[in-house]
Amino acid sequence: MITLALMEDSAPRPAPQAITTANPADRPVYVIGGGPGGLATAYALRAQGVRAVVVEKADAVGASWRRHYDRLHLHTTRRLSALPGLVMPRRFGRWVARDDMVRYLEKYAEVHELETVTGVEVSRVERTADGTGWLLRASGGRELVGSAVVVATGYNHTPHLPDWPGRETFKGELAHAAAYRSGKEYAGRDVLVVGVGNTGAEIAVDLVENGAARVRLSVRTAPHIVRRSTAGWAAQYTAVLVRRLPVRLVDRLARPMAKLSVPDLSAHGLPRPDSGLYSRVKEGAIPVQDVGLIDAVRKGRVEITAAVTGFEEDGVVLADGTRITPDAVVAATGYVRGLEDLVGHLGVLDDRGRPVGHGARPPKDTPGLYFTGFTTPISGTLRELAIDAERIAKAVRRQLR
Ligand SMILES: Cc1cc2nc3c(=O)[nH]c(=O)nc-3n(C[C@H](O)[C@H](O)[C@H](O)COP(=O)(O)OP(=O)(O)OC[C@H]3O[C@@H](n4cnc5c(N)ncnc54)[C@H](O)[C@@H]3O)c2cc1C
Repeated sequence: MITLALMEDSAPRPAPQAITTANPADRPVYVIGGGPGGLATAYALRAQGVRAVVVEKADAVGASWRRHYDRLHLHTTRRLSALPGLVMPRRFGRWVARDDMVRYLEKYAEVHELETVTGVEVSRVERTADGTGWLLRASGGRELVGSAVVVATGYNHTPHLPDWPGRETFKGELAHAAAYRSGKEYAGRDVLVVGVGNTGAEIAVDLVENGAARVRLSVRTAPHIVRRSTAGWAAQYTAVLVRRLPVRLVDRLARPMAKLSVPDLSAHGLPRPDSGLYSRVKEGAIPVQDVGLIDAVRKGRVEITAAVTGFEEDGVVLADGTRITPDAVVAATGYVRGLEDLVGHLGVLDDRGRPVGHGARPPKDTPGLYFTGFTTPISGTLRELAIDAERIAKAVRRQLR
């Protein structure tokens, strides 16, 4: 990895730095974010003969993965999670552990000698005054001018904690799942996990395995649950095969498959969902990959409760009117994209804050401004990030020609 600059935010600020190049054709493409999406795109751009510079706000690449909880393993297979130009070593196993993922991302930047600027946060993207490129305003008063920009700041950018009534006065412990590391910290305690996406489901299991006294899981909408693998066949393979089929057809096919592979948990408070699996994915809800939840629910080790509607000083109020008093609450309530300040003024976001153009298709009125990683594909985000990287790189090369 070629580290171009490392400037602590607390360091005395030099005069704003305008990295401009006389000849617009010599400007690099700036990639904002040094996660898998940004790194893969930088590599793919280089492979197309385009100079790319990754700007990362943390002090190292793969920052999101460094923060994830200890138990985390990929739920997509090693082979279908590798980025272009570097396979993941066999010794990582089929389901890659968090630390191995971090190691892989470090290696990826190093092996491909990607130009990476760490410790620099981009706060705003604007067109250059002459309209020939893009100006990035970044921490330390930096102004970076690029021929194109790829925004790869992550779908899971800013933890989202619902504005539950009474939340502020709750005296118990309330943390977002983004701050959760391990169930060890909760041993012997009564814990409520809110939200049954992949993160909430796995945290509930992790708490049980690490000796929490009681684990409850608050569910607003019953999720689709799939086995990560059946007789060696990964759920991801099926997802890749069906991803281009009509949504309603996949919904119909998924129903009997779910009945065959996942037991009915209605008696435990987790009925089968009434909306289709692929329809839900299109709304942004990825099915829960079972990493122990089914077993834990059946054995009563994870108790399902109704949705949280509010907090009181010493308790939590649920949608069915009950009031419970856990020692700690972990809110696995998702993330928001956090793109408003960065690019909102360019009119490129929809009413849910998602970019209106994606991958090789920039928003209509902002040619040269690309986004990657802002969808939730059924076939696995890492796989799609890898595919998008190569498509974006080709589109940029065509644009710069
Ligand atoms: C718990 C969890 C498990 C997941 N497991 C899987 C899985 O098994 N398989 C799969 O395919 N997908 C998985 N995903 C989804 C997805 O693959 C990952 O979130 C992946 O890290 C997305 O890569 P990314 O590069 O788009 O974003 P990120 O990895 O989030 O990287 C974004 C980077 O941008 C930086 N950044 C943000 N804002 C700025 C800024 N303004 N200026 C400079 N830098 C900035 C951040 O510090 C970060 O390093 C998982 C997601 C989560 C949350």
